[in-house]
Amino acid sequence: MSERSRIYLSSPHMSGLEQQYITEAFDTNWIAPLGKNVDMFETEIAQYTGTQGAVALSSGTAAIHLALILLGIGREDIVFCSSLTFVASANPILYEGARPVFIDSEPESWNMSPQALERALKDYVQRGQKPKAVIIVNLYGQSANYTKLKALCDEYDVPIVEDAAESLGATYEEQMSGTIGEFGIFSFNGNKIITTSGGGMLVSNNIAALEKARFYATQARDQARYYQHSEVGYNYRLSNVLAGIGRGQLQILDQRVKQKRAIFEQYQHELAEIQGVSFMPEADYGRATRWLTAMLIHPAMLSVSVTDIIVHLDQFNIESRPVWKPLHLQPLFKEAKYYRHTEEQDVSSELFEHGICLPSDTNMNAESQAFVIEKLKEVLC
Ligand SMILES: *Cc1c(COP(=O)(O)O)cnc(C)c1O
Repeated sequence: MSERSRIYLSSPHMSGLEQQYITEAFDTNWIAPLGKNVDMFETEIAQYTGTQGAVALSSGTAAIHLALILLGIGREDIVFCSSLTFVASANPILYEGARPVFIDSEPESWNMSPQALERALKDYVQRGQKPKAVIIVNLYGQSANYTKLKALCDEYDVPIVEDAAESLGATYEEQMSGTIGEFGIFSFNGNKIITTSGGGMLVSNNIAALEKARFYATQARDQARYYQHSEVGYNYRLSNVLAGIGRGQLQILDQRVKQKRAIFEQYQHELAEIQGVSFMPEADYGRATRWLTAMLIHPAMLSVSVTDIIVHLDQFNIESRPVWKPLHLQPLFKEAKYYRHTEEQDVSSELFEHGICLPSDTNMNAESQAFVIEKLKEVLC
């Protein structure tokens, strides 16, 4: 019997089109953080998402950081952020010496709870500490409920930074995910739906702000013949070689969305019958990519824990993971305030305790997924 290779949550999946753009970068010797691939990748992302402009950056984290700088966030400012997310959503708040306040999820979409946001806004505005921004995360390929969230942010006049690192290719009503907020950010890290091995993008309809982002991302160099600097800058631009990978990847994004959704549908088809198993719901306001299939175990109906499942799958060289550990439970943010969905219900903590991400790799073939499902049934039934 041949050794089975590891089955991943989500691994890089090239289209074959990337190489031509990389070759072009080499042939023209644009091995730099500028060049045609960078310009074209920005244009193509702006076109795909339907925004006025885009700035290619070295990471999604850099994009969030620049968005906060552009919104004027500084020492002691309050910034609200989804709790159920990867730490990169909130780290840039700390880079600027600002104070994060975490907001719970709603059960319907697992994204930011409008109820919790409303209570938090009321509290902080009453105290005269209106937040300078709200970072709303679109989890596992699904947009948050912007009808409610944006209405609240508009009412209190607080800008939204949309962390769409996990939701490129998803939609929210008629719009592409990542285009609702004042700024949207995407990530092209190796595990995302498309990758440049590492990279990110800042999108907005505010062209002047995007110009400023380019300035900060290239060491904030003043317009002068010599090197003159009046502000703190960063080295945050994307390499022209990596942007070439991105251009090849973007061409098969819609196909990857279809594949990710088919993987989810297969899990649902095979496992939904099992008592005590459910999946992250898809809200009716948009179309999720199902970047990662996330499953929930109902402890009253099943005696198995998330850890039991992860350990069992790992014995067969299958990668799985708990859902993100909420940021309000992280030692790094132990000082931060947190607003639950309701007084009684802490949704993100429950999802962390009972949620698991299943292999959703588009490199995985039907036979491999059947093997994963077989192993899941062994432990669940
Ligand atoms: C991946 C990710 C990021 C960070 O992107 P990088 O490109 O790795 O810096 C930010 N937020 C979320 C929700 C992510 O999943």
